[in-house]
Amino acid sequence: MLLHGKTALVTGSTSGIGLAVARALAAEGAAVMVNGFGEPQVIAAIVAELASASGAGALHDPADMADPAAIAAMVARCAAELGGPDIVVANAGIQHVAPIESFPVEQWDRVLAINLSSVFHLARACVPIMRSKGWGRIVATASAHSLTASPFKAAYVTAKHGLAGLIKTIALECARDGITANCISPGYVWTPLVEAQIPDTMQARGMSREQVIEEVMLERQPTKQFVTVEEVAAAALFLCRDEARQVTGANWSIDGGWTAQ
Ligand code: NAD
Repeated sequence: MLLHGKTALVTGSTSGIGLAVARALAAEGAAVMVNGFGEPQVIAAIVAELASASGAGALHDPADMADPAAIAAMVARCAAELGGPDIVVANAGIQHVAPIESFPVEQWDRVLAINLSSVFHLARACVPIMRSKGWGRIVATASAHSLTASPFKAAYVTAKHGLAGLIKTIALECARDGITANCISPGYVWTPLVEAQIPDTMQARGMSREQVIEEVMLERQPTKQFVTVEEVAAAALFLCRDEARQVTGANWSIDGGWTAQ
């Protein structure tokens, strides 16, 4: 098991990409702190599944990524109860789709807080722990929208572009410390987050559900296929391996060729 003895903190891991990443890391022996919202019994089942897969511990912390104090408390709890974190996968994210002139101010603030500022607060708390061990991995789930824009996603595109810059900065600051920081930038991955934005996109563009899938989502993805959560998790796992020690400050596209255009 490649990650035996390591502890991973994966934000937004009760669903979608984060859950797949948590499973991939646990399968390699990492203890995992799960974070995110959901039904208590579903979360309990996830924690039990991960602990059994890794043979190490697993815990859930319900910290809201919009709350800096809760983020610091989650990192402290992880250190006290599981050790580490040696690996941080900053994955929690939300989307809001609306034209700029009617974009709700509170949604702008919330998307920026959860998708961008939370990663600053996480890294601020975790880098000293990683430095003390001389080893660390920070992986952020960015997006094709960290490299290119789409209409009606002002807050998301802004947050993801900012995230790419933040991760490059952390990579440079930690380059001599055995700590790497990288972004993974998926195109459209079939998860609850994507499914949930279909109705708003239908409204914003006056399209049917099928048109949104074919003409908006897969229109920009040359392979004409959704990315799978397992494909994203495999990339995250590679970045956590010792062999990836020279990969830092990268922004790894997994987007079926979207940003090659
Ligand atoms: P998802 O909705 O399936 O999962 C999001 C997770 O984040 C859930 O566990 C949820 O409970 C958690 N979460 C939401 N708000 C939170 C908060 N305030 N505090 C803590 N946890 C919170 O979404 P997903 O598609 O798996 O997205 C995960 C990440 O991948 C996001 O950062 C998203 O921007 C990014 N991404 C997704 C796609 C895609 O097509 N699905 C593409 C590119 C990037």
